[in-house]
Amino acid sequence: MEPPAKGLFADRIDGAWYWVCACEKCLGTGKTYNYSPCEAHDRCVTCNCTRADLTEAPWGVQGGWRCKPCQETLDAARKAEALAAAEANGHSEDDCVYTSDIICPYCATKQSSDDRHESAHGLECDTCGGKFDLEVEWSPSYTTTKARAQAQQKGPAS
Ligand SMILES: [Zn+2]
Ligand SMILES: [Zn+2]
Ligand SMILES: [Zn+2]
Repeated sequence: MEPPAKGLFADRIDGAWYWVCACEKCLGTGKTYNYSPCEAHDRCVTCNCTRADLTEAPWGVQGGWRCKPCQETLDAARKAEALAAAEANGHSEDDCVYTSDIICPYCATKQSSDDRHESAHGLECDTCGGKFDLEVEWSPSYTTTKARAQAQQKGPAS
């Protein structure tokens, strides 16, 4: 059964089925997530445009979605900001050697290191889109345990 309007869901009240609005904004719950917004509240979190205004698929973001033009503007602003900060700080490749995080050699933003266990070529910065190569080096670490036969004794056998 399709709801007669967006954001409505069927609820059984006193033995009868009713269409109930599940839009968090209509209900005034103050929740960040609005899983089933009504038509009026289903809008871009940045410019407030409606789904009817969309020409391309929007980006899902916390609290709803953002239209593509808004997302692109935001991305461009983040990129410009990061590159300007990198330049102001004199960021260079020299700052990206043996670092504990993966740092973009162009804009100095930290990249996700999830599943990055091997060297790779032609990666793209999430922020500035700059292409970079990554080398992963594993430094050895050592663990010692007392030999089992001596573990019960206070010190080394004499
Ligand atoms: Zn609503
Ligand atoms: Zn927008
Ligand atoms: Zn970058």
